[in-house]
Amino acid sequence: MKSHTQIEDLLELKRRKNAVILAHYYQDSDIQDIADFIGDSLDLARAAKSTNADRILFCGVHFMAEGAKILNPSRQVLIPDLKAGCSLSDGCPPDKFAAFKKQFDNPFVISYINCSAEIKALSDVICTSTNAEKILSRAPKDRPIIFAPDKNLGGYLKKKTGRDMSLWNGSCMVHETFSRRKIIDLKTEYPDAELIAHPECVEELLKHAEFIGSTSALLKHVISSPVKKFIVATEAGILHQMQKQAPTKILIPAPPEASCACNECPYMKLNTLDKMYAALDTEKPELFMNEDLRLRALKPLELMLEWSN
Ligand code: SF4
Repeated sequence: MKSHTQIEDLLELKRRKNAVILAHYYQDSDIQDIADFIGDSLDLARAAKSTNADRILFCGVHFMAEGAKILNPSRQVLIPDLKAGCSLSDGCPPDKFAAFKKQFDNPFVISYINCSAEIKALSDVICTSTNAEKILSRAPKDRPIIFAPDKNLGGYLKKKTGRDMSLWNGSCMVHETFSRRKIIDLKTEYPDAELIAHPECVEELLKHAEFIGSTSALLKHVISSPVKKFIVATEAGILHQMQKQAPTKILIPAPPEASCACNECPYMKLNTLDKMYAALDTEKPELFMNEDLRLRALKPLELMLEWSN
């Protein structure tokens, strides 16, 4: 936990630099507490598009900061740690994905927002876990659909909507870590608890969930549901907002298979208040993007924003 003075110094620097701090729900609680805006990928994309600040300090992972730059190119986008990547995004290299795409005749590509700018540029439309069903319902019926890069979210959507899609074989290392066996034990121990899960989790776990939804949807559900106890199967950072906004609810983080902190995203947790201060102070690391790539990635992102309104 940081001292009051350190936080005040960071906020003062932010004011002087006319910066806005955007933070994902999976960030450490001290970062969430000083952010101007907290949200999931879709919320953050919208916030990045509408800000008037000179610079955006993006506390999340690399592909999210890229999204901010794609949508708001005139702003300087700073990231606390360049190494904050993502196993899902890294598991879909553009050259291999382009070759995969070539196997299909005139495919329509829907990519989950958790992918690089290059993959976005190879896509027809982007989706998030919040709007994926809505986006899929607008996809043309006469073209083969490719869904990338998350096979678990893709599999969940196929099952839910009955639409046939070819899936890129990628996954999130955090959402694949939850132990179905330990969660079933927890459900036996707490029969009054509801299992809520993110659709990036594996199908065997989703089968046992009473509620499935994006990070924002899980948060809203905990706040509005009459249920008092929840087993939460997503990155553990969201528990901070859940507890803040629903202080009377009992939240049990879904356990990983090993006795480790694998239910925390190691990339998200690379960001710290010290690194945020340094990034604002030195205006580095800054995210730069080739304009041709930006424009190609912008098209499917804008289509997502249009289709999800
Ligand atoms: S939680 Fe998974 S999908 Fe999200 S940033 Fe971390 S590795 Fe990527």
